[in-house]
Amino acid sequence: MTKRIPIIGGNWKMNTNLESGMLLAGAIADQADTCECCEVVVYPPFLYIQAVDSVIDQTSLHLGAQNIWHEPSGAFTGEVSGAMLREVGATSVIIGHSERRHILGESAELISQKMEYSIKDGFQTVLCVGETLEEREAGKTVEVVLGQVKSGLQHVHASKMEMVVIAYEPVWAIGTGKTASPDDAQNVHKEIRECVRGLYDETIANTLRIQYGGSVKPDNAAELFACPDIDGALVGGASLSADSFNAIVTAACES
Ligand code: PEP
Repeated sequence: MTKRIPIIGGNWKMNTNLESGMLLAGAIADQADTCECCEVVVYPPFLYIQAVDSVIDQTSLHLGAQNIWHEPSGAFTGEVSGAMLREVGATSVIIGHSERRHILGESAELISQKMEYSIKDGFQTVLCVGETLEEREAGKTVEVVLGQVKSGLQHVHASKMEMVVIAYEPVWAIGTGKTASPDDAQNVHKEIRECVRGLYDETIANTLRIQYGGSVKPDNAAELFACPDIDGALVGGASLSADSFNAIVTAACES
């Protein structure tokens, strides 16, 4: 069986301030440095990326951005390019987060353009997918999730798939305290891997890391990480406390 290194991402969303973000990053970096069995990434708000980079520069903690624009420069008020992100130290980017799909109205087409651009620009790129409660109750979970996977990867060549991570984040579980059961999450992760096998090949499917996201906490992390197709977590709320986030990292190392 292919050994995949778990990846734990901390999506800070629009939280922290300059000082608390730097302190949080420092405490997470201390733990990340002691743990070689897991890749750890934090995604601060754009404005704090550079300051966080100055804190974690010499550590094994990775740094990412919560979004990117799919053009290198120009008249795109309020947007941020890949070159700008790289300049301040980001190496990973989250694309298609449910808050961007559902609150900010990002379309599948825009998400696939951002995927293409982010990968061309050399970023590890995390494609978030997930069904709403309505879609789940209508029995459409797999259909919706695989539709988002296929659309998000439509411009991604096989040779670039090593830069892709997929995060399965059921929308109804994000920030709600509700988590998919390990069996339900495992089932969707397996479907995603099968889908990627069909789109690409066996090796790419077996090496692709698929994170789970949706109210992951220290007390539910271990049972999720015990599932064969769950390769870590994208964490929102619990990533704002170094103790909670570090406990999730520890659970991934022990899985
Ligand atoms: C997220 O925002 O990606 C997320 C999973 O949030 P939370 O852990 O708070 O549910």
